[in-house]
Amino acid sequence: MSARILDGQALADRMQQEIRPDVAAFTARHGRPPALGILLVGDDPASQVYVRNKVRAGTEAGFRVDLERIPETATLHDVLAAVERLNQSPVHDGILVQAPLPKGMGSGAQQRVFDTIAAAKDVDGFGAESAGLLSQNRPQLVACTPAGIIELLEREKIQIAGRHAVVIGRSDIVGKPMAMLLLHRDATVTIAHSRTPDLAGACRRADILVAAVGKAGLIRSNFVKPGATVIDVGVNRVADAAVVAELYPPSHPRQKVFSSKGSLLVGDVHPEVAEIAGALTPVPGGVGPLTITMLMMNTLAAAKARVDH
Ligand code: NAP
Repeated sequence: MSARILDGQALADRMQQEIRPDVAAFTARHGRPPALGILLVGDDPASQVYVRNKVRAGTEAGFRVDLERIPETATLHDVLAAVERLNQSPVHDGILVQAPLPKGMGSGAQQRVFDTIAAAKDVDGFGAESAGLLSQNRPQLVACTPAGIIELLEREKIQIAGRHAVVIGRSDIVGKPMAMLLLHRDATVTIAHSRTPDLAGACRRADILVAAVGKAGLIRSNFVKPGATVIDVGVNRVADAAVVAELYPPSHPRQKVFSSKGSLLVGDVHPEVAEIAGALTPVPGGVGPLTITMLMMNTLAAAKARVDH
């Protein structure tokens, strides 16, 4: 058996098209486009790429996207002040502070910044108020990656209610909100993590298995119940040929990609799982593209809620 591939990229493309008329209608009605303010602190190369993609996707869909760069040397106070300005801004409907913040700002800085974003503009859904509302099943703006996964499951008509879902990972940005969204759709949810004994055994009980760990190829076929839906959130850049060899045979096309680029983007799920799962998201092209699309959906929702308020 070979798993049905859940094409997140195709769904993301479709949703980006679907949202355009709504964005245009908002712009025509209110004389301004829905607007997102992004703060990028420092020069982390991966963050630069993520932010560039967000600006491009938003602009293409008709949003106004303003990027404010804040130097690495800025203080936490400077970042909080920039957030406050966006909180007060009449034109900005959504605010996103690209993580991670520079390490020098201290360990609690990131959450403090997230918590300072007004809940009505918290389009990443990382603030304490957004998380609390989700936990009470009164979601306002929900973290984009888990929200995108629910969109994918629902559009692919994968039943959630009454199924057993196992989420591996308990981060505030993926694992926990994912578990909440599944729970509120009447799945029975297990959250697994690095201290879970017999991880493979726990995962084998899953009808829906979500891997949000950050370890290349951790999920092997003995973790998966035959026919289960497997969602691979992991994004791992592998530069070690031995690790790539564990994942793909020498003749596999992805080996060629690795040879030419010197590294390979892989998920948490080993490719052998495709032989046992019923449905599977690829990496790349699965969950990743949906995250940005959900950011756009959240920004539009925030804009509509603000003008209706
Ligand atoms: P994170 O904050 O590092 O959390 C990782 C979680 O995995 C933790 O709960 C950790 O357990 C658990 N874990 C680590 N090693 C484990 C093991 N051997 N067995 C079982 N559990 C283990 O990561 P994150 O921010 O949630 O992100 C997870 C992955 O998703 C990363 O690869 C990230 O790049 C990717 N991601 C992708 C997108 C996207 O758009 N596609 C968005 C966000 C994140 P403990 O809590 O016990 O430490």
